[in-house]
Amino acid sequence: MLYINGEWRKSNSGETLEVYNPATGELIDSVASGGREETREAIESAKEAFKTWKRETGQKRGKYLARVVAKMKDKADDIAKTITMEMGKPLPDAKREVGGAIAYLDWYAEEAKRIYGETIPASHPDKHLMLLREPVGVTAAITPWNFPASMITRKIGPALAAGCTVVLKPAPSTPLSAIKVFECFHEAGLPKGVANLVIGPAEEIGDEMTENPDVRKLTFTGSTNVGKLLLRKAANTVKKVSMELGGHAPLIIFDDADLDAAVQGVLVTKFKNSGQTCISTNRVYVAESIAEEFGGKLAEAAAKLKVGNGIEEGIDVGPLINSQALEKVESHVDDALRRNGKVLCGGRRSENTIGNFYEPTVINYAHDDMKISTEETFGPVAPIFTFKDETEIIERANHESYGLAAYCFTKDLGRGHRMMKELEYGIVGINDPAPIVPQAPFGGIKESGMGKEGGKSGLLEYLEEKFVSISTGN
Ligand code: ADP
Repeated sequence: MLYINGEWRKSNSGETLEVYNPATGELIDSVASGGREETREAIESAKEAFKTWKRETGQKRGKYLARVVAKMKDKADDIAKTITMEMGKPLPDAKREVGGAIAYLDWYAEEAKRIYGETIPASHPDKHLMLLREPVGVTAAITPWNFPASMITRKIGPALAAGCTVVLKPAPSTPLSAIKVFECFHEAGLPKGVANLVIGPAEEIGDEMTENPDVRKLTFTGSTNVGKLLLRKAANTVKKVSMELGGHAPLIIFDDADLDAAVQGVLVTKFKNSGQTCISTNRVYVAESIAEEFGGKLAEAAAKLKVGNGIEEGIDVGPLINSQALEKVESHVDDALRRNGKVLCGGRRSENTIGNFYEPTVINYAHDDMKISTEETFGPVAPIFTFKDETEIIERANHESYGLAAYCFTKDLGRGHRMMKELEYGIVGINDPAPIVPQAPFGGIKESGMGKEGGKSGLLEYLEEKFVSISTGN
């Protein structure tokens, strides 16, 4: 169903979109699929709603968001099950995602009442200078399938807190989680038109979102190529834009690191979500002197991960989203093996051939001319590269075009600080494979994106600064 102007409805054409379970290939449901026309209607309703929503106090907007939080808590298990069914992650991970989705809303429910302006010292005794922070306006949001609930709240939470109204387009493979999240908005009694949901063909909806001059803000999470395309399109109406794009995270293990913690670090950053995360580790760099030992430990741990349908108990790694994703992973592994890489574990599709399963894979003797060393794999494959010293690894760890997340394991405090400064990434985890929290800014540099989500910076993305100069003299 589409959700426009506070109502659940079908598309004008009556067209639908089918949703499949990547673990079983089964049809789960079919939902209404709208296009340009419905997107235009949603934008109109958001424009109308903006007139009153922007005038509400921050406190009141925060209270609405708090009500959504309460609804989401009530429905958490149901939303988590939907996530697992339509994109495959194991149920406990889906529950963690819903927890994260709620945490973002909760944070911004609080922040709504803390949007301050500033006074600026004047250069004349009879002048009063002020900076106001005001909502940007109608926001178009486009989200991906890999975190089908939390990517939504990470955008809608700060947008609504700031006083913007929203039209959201989720990924076509995961509309059901989006519908569940929007049910919470609906049941929380959000005024009509404040949050709208359109589901359907990406390009059609995207074209309306980028071309319509009433949309003043575009926020996107997805691939770098689509991000660049949307940036070009949004340029015609000079929209305010935030982009969370691809990544190619290095994870560096120095010879003084706690090896068991580093193994855990790779398990978390590489095999969670089957490696389908923009902050997933893509390159594991291990100091030469400990590489054999580390490779053995990692392969032993990865081989123990249980692959299967995430709705069943005890599953660590679910399916990939679709057959193209599986083929991409295979092509990266084939290329690595052709160039003398060696499989330490996995290296093939799982025996369960119905779903899109690939075994957790560790590849030894990786080097810089393999595809895997520069292209995003988006799958459960950990290539191990070796390095000799800090100067060399800083050079190699920084990517030509990506700059989202980087991880480093060392017990040397000075080295940790040096790495923190030298790594050209928007997020750096030192001995920490899980650095993401709602109160901190998430976002990349270089071609990994622009703008932040989370924390105070996340809120500023939905605010414009207005400077006012008042002459107080007679
Ligand atoms: P992925 O490869 O992870 O699916 P995409 O960038 O293709 O990443 O998808 C992320 C989101 O962008 C999805 O909601 C998808 O439907 C949307 N999308 C893809 N192509 C376009 C487009 N041309 N215009 C607008 N949205 C698009």
